[in-house]
Amino acid sequence: MIHWLRNVGRATSTLASSMFVTLSTFLQTYRRKPFTTSFAYPEQPVPIRPRYRGYHRFDLTTCIGCDKCARACPVDCIYIDKEKAPPPAKGFMVTGFKIDYTKCMFCALCVDPCPVDCIFMGSNHDISCYTRDGCVVDYAKLPLAVAWGQDTLNPTAVHESKKISLPVWTKV
Ligand code: SF4
Ligand code: SF4
Repeated sequence: MIHWLRNVGRATSTLASSMFVTLSTFLQTYRRKPFTTSFAYPEQPVPIRPRYRGYHRFDLTTCIGCDKCARACPVDCIYIDKEKAPPPAKGFMVTGFKIDYTKCMFCALCVDPCPVDCIFMGSNHDISCYTRDGCVVDYAKLPLAVAWGQDTLNPTAVHESKKISLPVWTKV
């Protein structure tokens, strides 16, 4: 009998302690302010850490189309289109620089091999889109301010990127 009562006591105290955790977490949701009241995202930028790895910054005007970033990417999510530059110019003309953000894992391995430093991880955390195809961002089609300029350091650049007609890339 004593053994049975001890088991009942243990079961009750275990249940009470687990319910305490559940109830305190439940009540926290009422104490915590909604995210939007703190930062009013997306109208106001959300503070991010200085070393945050967001969407890439890419400078089309400097890229030489060497494919080193694409070869370094472990998930093969960089697609580069290029044409021979018309004479007397030498080298390639980059006509498309697409990154598939359904595959990208923001590892930054594409950044180091670039010989001309034209690709970096930016601070923009949102290039919102309404379709899966829109997750493939063609940096060659983005305005330079969004792809490379100051806007890439500002999360509110999402406004600018949304002004681009979507999707930025369509399958052929
Ligand atoms: S961050 Fe990593 S996964 Fe994304 S494109 Fe660069 S190398 Fe590929
Ligand atoms: S490594 Fe740099 S220069 Fe070469 S294709 Fe990539 S972004 Fe362009």
